[in-house]
Amino acid sequence: MNNLFYLSEDQRAIRSLARDIARERIAPLAARVDETGEYPDEQLKLLGQQGLMGLHIPEEYGGTGAGSLAFCLAAEEVAWACAATSTIFLVQNLGGYPIILAGNAEQKRRYLPRLATGEMTAAFSLSEPGSGSDAAAMLCSAVRKGDRYVVNGSKMWVTNGSHAGVITVFVTTDKAKRARGVTALLVEPGTKGFSVGKHEKKLGIHGSPTVALHFADCEIPVDNRLGEEGEGFRIAMQTLERSRPTIGAQAVGIAQAALDASIGYARERRAFEQPIGAFQGIQFMLADMATAVHASRLVVHHAAGLIDQGATSTALEASMAKCLASDSAMKVTTDAVQIFGGYGYTREFPVERFMRDAKITQIYEGTNQIQRVVIAQHLLGKL
Ligand SMILES: Cc1cc2nc3c(=O)[nH]c(=O)nc-3n(C[C@H](O)[C@H](O)[C@H](O)COP(=O)(O)OP(=O)(O)OC[C@H]3O[C@@H](n4cnc5c(N)ncnc54)[C@H](O)[C@@H]3O)c2cc1C
Repeated sequence: MNNLFYLSEDQRAIRSLARDIARERIAPLAARVDETGEYPDEQLKLLGQQGLMGLHIPEEYGGTGAGSLAFCLAAEEVAWACAATSTIFLVQNLGGYPIILAGNAEQKRRYLPRLATGEMTAAFSLSEPGSGSDAAAMLCSAVRKGDRYVVNGSKMWVTNGSHAGVITVFVTTDKAKRARGVTALLVEPGTKGFSVGKHEKKLGIHGSPTVALHFADCEIPVDNRLGEEGEGFRIAMQTLERSRPTIGAQAVGIAQAALDASIGYARERRAFEQPIGAFQGIQFMLADMATAVHASRLVVHHAAGLIDQGATSTALEASMAKCLASDSAMKVTTDAVQIFGGYGYTREFPVERFMRDAKITQIYEGTNQIQRVVIAQHLLGKL
């Protein structure tokens, strides 16, 4: 879409840069990343070298400070090319944002410049084996002993946890207080007592590692705490509020790729002596797919734009954007497989990958049921 009249010149330039890199350098490797599960190291380095890893990071800490909408534009382009690479690209924002939000000057100086260039990647560790949607029920605990926290327990589903140079880990320092007892700690690999566990075998986004983390009497300096003890849950929720539109952008990118592939196939594939695109049944599917992608993009940009304007609360719009865009992406990619017929079900064409990749956008950073809970709470208030 080139008629997005509200984009600034800078935002258009960022989208154009991301599109060129994504289409020329990332897309050609996507099928291989999916097939082998290899970590897209070179692709991420390239995004870092071109300044795209630092779009959300303030200029004083080495980023471009371009903001949330700019980041969403870049994320969509990367996701169009390779959803796995885009997941790690998004986690650079998700894992680093708590530092922007709650880090002190020393913590910001230590990590943000390296995250901005992509020299270091980040991860965000909230979920556990027994708690995902109900994140405040976490069990991984930290007990303060002098100038250290002793951490014990396990986290799960940590995207990029095996490769990150810094992981924002949420632990409980007072289980009885539930959400008010959660504390955020910055953990670096190599810390004694910290280890990376099982790598999940997943339906899609192969190449984006999803791992368990284990802590056994792991000592983390109090200096690595973000904000105050007990502020971790607020930091996590504020981060997710800002990050959910980026998942929407990822969903839009995957859906746009499926739509583009479907339009091409509808022109070329022939049945009953005409292109299948000549059948109204196919035309209506394409029309609905394009409309869903367009509408999703607009709600994502609206939520991101609100964040850039400094809106005090964007939880409603962020949940709507994530929910609509990911549900649309699932529908659009499923329809794309249908348009490709039997070939759509094979690895000869990318649409089955798009469908597998789209599914995760309905699950992570809060399932779409949880997004609907957030939306309904805004509508109804406390009953
Ligand atoms: C590939 C992948 C990558 C991930 N990356 C990360 C990461 O980097 N960091 C991280 O912290 N986590 C990560 N996650 C975890 C993810 O955020 C959780 O899986 C998700 O929040 C759901 O939690 P759960 O799996 O425990 O499901 P559960 O919470 O057990 O939910 C099970 C089902 O019940 C539904 N449900 C639960 N509560 C309600 C309710 N109140 N109303 C209606 N329905 C409800 C859910 O929607 C779901 O359908 C990742 C997960 C995956 C699969």
